[in-house]
Amino acid sequence: MTKDRPRHNHTYYKRIAREKARCTRDPALAVCWICGEPIDMALPHDHKRAFTLDHVVPIARGGRVLDETRYAHRDCNSARGGGRTATTATTAIEW
Ligand SMILES: [Zn+2]
Repeated sequence: MTKDRPRHNHTYYKRIAREKARCTRDPALAVCWICGEPIDMALPHDHKRAFTLDHVVPIARGGRVLDETRYAHRDCNSARGGGRTATTATTAIEW
């Protein structure tokens, strides 16, 4: 089913559309929960400072696509990634 592409979920897309509309109506809500800066709702979706929904529990850490989300900039969200940082990333190989 949608196992390999969990974000390809109709309900999830509807949630994104609803949250974007809400922030466009009330820009005071559009604040990135990672860096605390406002999000410009006029930016194109592929802009690095564009609005995204970030999963509080990353999908890569067992979170589900319809679990709690918060607003974040695209670059803040991708920097956070699956909840890993350079200091906690590990490889399968023991050197
Ligand atoms: Zn941010």
